[in-house]
Amino acid sequence: MGLRLGSRSPNGKIPAVKAVAKMQPGRGISLIDVDEPEIRPGCVKLKVDRGSVCGTDLHIYQWDEWSSGRIKTPRIIGHEFCGTIVEVGEGVTDRKVGDFVSSESHIVDLDDPDLLRGDGHVARTTRLLGVDVDGGFAEYAVIPESNARLTDDSVPGSVASMQDALGNAVHTAMDGPIEGCSILITGLGPIGLFAGAICKSLGAKRIYATEIADFRIDLGHQVGIDRIINPLKEDVLSVLKNEEPNGVDGVLEMSGHPSSLPLAIDCVRPGGRISLLGLFKQNNQSFDLNKLIFKGVRMQGIVGRRLWETWDQMHWLLTEKGLDVTPIVTHEMHFSEIEKAFEVLERGEAGKIVLSF
Ligand code: ZN
Repeated sequence: MGLRLGSRSPNGKIPAVKAVAKMQPGRGISLIDVDEPEIRPGCVKLKVDRGSVCGTDLHIYQWDEWSSGRIKTPRIIGHEFCGTIVEVGEGVTDRKVGDFVSSESHIVDLDDPDLLRGDGHVARTTRLLGVDVDGGFAEYAVIPESNARLTDDSVPGSVASMQDALGNAVHTAMDGPIEGCSILITGLGPIGLFAGAICKSLGAKRIYATEIADFRIDLGHQVGIDRIINPLKEDVLSVLKNEEPNGVDGVLEMSGHPSSLPLAIDCVRPGGRISLLGLFKQNNQSFDLNKLIFKGVRMQGIVGRRLWETWDQMHWLLTEKGLDVTPIVTHEMHFSEIEKAFEVLERGEAGKIVLSF
């Protein structure tokens, strides 16, 4: 779908709507008028209710190496959003007008062998909403039927809009047992904070985390993390050896910090698991592989959300397990204030920022 820009459509047939877009290479973001997107076969049209701003959006705003190599402008951004279906395209069978849905950002060909094998989260045909195709920071968005995930009306719009990101945390946490377990979360960015709330709702015995920013330490306590260790003030391994002499049952790595892998291998119990979501700046990392082998530790890379198992688990957590992630929403603003949202994010003063449309 290309952008047809400009003011209201000259023939008056297609109403103009507002959208947040990257219009040209370089730092910045624009608020633009576009024609209301037209429905396509196999797709649904949403009236967007809320969107949540992700680190990926910040990369696009800043126009870093990754985004400048990947994004073709002009592009409507935003891959975390929710809304109500106002129109369905030809061939749509599982969604109807009036359904409240949230976006899954990975668009995968339905006949992709990776998806059919159950590995849709790493499918090679993946295109990202708001990156490779136009996203949902707009008054209306058209997305494939299967990417519009049914969401219970009881889930507040601010939370519904974050489910793509929340799903990363659900996928990581539920990669192994949580109930009755001791869990260490390394790094309390929004996904680490989500993971803390998830571990709490799943009945973890004791939740530990590492974090250096006071602002995030405070949010970590609010979501129910029992013990947050600041590596600038305490020796993390000594604290954990003291409090969990047998080792923790699981480590959820959310920081991408080089020290986190050796720490995880040292503090996990024999037979425990290490689930890796954080991306490391350097591709090559050094750690004691023999220790991992002799301890019989399982280490798993995590990306995206399992299609669609993670979404089912998330629905269950939100509707039946009392998962509460509202403390992590630190800012709510109108989408016309998108510049301000990025400024707050750049200062590191936010959990999740939710936009209303
Ligand atoms: Zn995201």
